[in-house]
Amino acid sequence: MGQTCSHDVIKELSQYGRLYVDVPMSQFTTFKVGGPADMLIEPSSNETIPYIVTIAKQTNTPVTIIGGGSNLVVGDRGIRGLVVRMGSSQEDEGSIAFNGTTVVVDAKVTKKRFVEEAIEHGLAGMEFMAGIPGCIGGGVIMNAGTTMGTFSDIITDITCYTADGTLLTVANTSLFSYRKSMLPEGAIVVSARCTLTIADNPEDVKNTVKEILRERKNKHPLDYPSAGSVFKNPDGHASWKLINDAGLRGYSIGGARVSELHTNFIVNTGKATAMDIKHLVEFIQETVHKLYDINLEPEIRFIGEF
Ligand SMILES: Cc1cc2nc3c(=O)[nH]c(=O)nc-3n(C[C@H](O)[C@H](O)[C@H](O)COP(=O)(O)OP(=O)(O)OC[C@H]3O[C@@H](n4cnc5c(N)ncnc54)[C@H](O)[C@@H]3O)c2cc1C
Repeated sequence: MGQTCSHDVIKELSQYGRLYVDVPMSQFTTFKVGGPADMLIEPSSNETIPYIVTIAKQTNTPVTIIGGGSNLVVGDRGIRGLVVRMGSSQEDEGSIAFNGTTVVVDAKVTKKRFVEEAIEHGLAGMEFMAGIPGCIGGGVIMNAGTTMGTFSDIITDITCYTADGTLLTVANTSLFSYRKSMLPEGAIVVSARCTLTIADNPEDVKNTVKEILRERKNKHPLDYPSAGSVFKNPDGHASWKLINDAGLRGYSIGGARVSELHTNFIVNTGKATAMDIKHLVEFIQETVHKLYDINLEPEIRFIGEF
């Protein structure tokens, strides 16, 4: 456990949320890898966040933010300092408020719930989110999406706390690019205001979502832990095709394997370490670069100590 994790800090932080000490990050990530975080807090409400970041700042405790943990590879040696988990939990699933086509949604709400409730309200425009795991905050930060659309298409503005605990609302103007958002370093997204459209026929939206989920089930290796597509698509290329054509379908390092179903996925076959995944990512990059002179940029994020 790191030296930042003193009893005083633990005692102070635990007033503001559910606090875990020395907790394996594998239980908070869809890849199911990652060593222990010194401390992990699930804030009891958005209003406790400025207190949490202030304690962290005053005690020189490094802060790492996660949402649903579906785009992350956490190092085998874990994370020093404090992880702030802005994910849904049984006690607190976050709030969604509908007002016409405007939806104000907490960062911790899952995309699945957002889509389901938007359909119930007769709305459309969020279908692209169907089947993407994790929460709204992580979706905003990653500008997650598919060829059908991305978060940037529906966000009006985002409310976040900056690293020094100041509440800030940022409009969606040049905030997003491909799988990227430009919020200030260390900002914690607490909610997003989205603009959807009235569905011409809500049954059609429901059926579209069903079809997307069916297709994803056929195309993605959902039986194994993963973090979705590993690499962004380079201009004019599909990463899965480059990896496939490089002969890497099914290639493994330790417990990490290039999925046979979708070659831009790496799956954890059961006992993968974060290092196995990292080495496999590097091997794919080297191979594709050697063969095609193309750099593959990871979409998944590596955090913590490897
Ligand atoms: C099976 C599978 C399929 C997937 N399919 C897709 C897909 O089709 N399209 C796609 O874009 N992605 C896809 N992904 C990747 C992933 O689900 C998305 O990137 C998702 O939006 C990440 O959300 P999360 O809540 O899990 O974020 P996390 O993985 O927890 O975090 C991602 C990043 O966001 C930051 N973050 C999270 N929450 C906050 C917050 N509240 N405030 C500030 N920073 C925050 C973290 O620091 C981190 O840098 C897939 C993943 C899996 C496992």
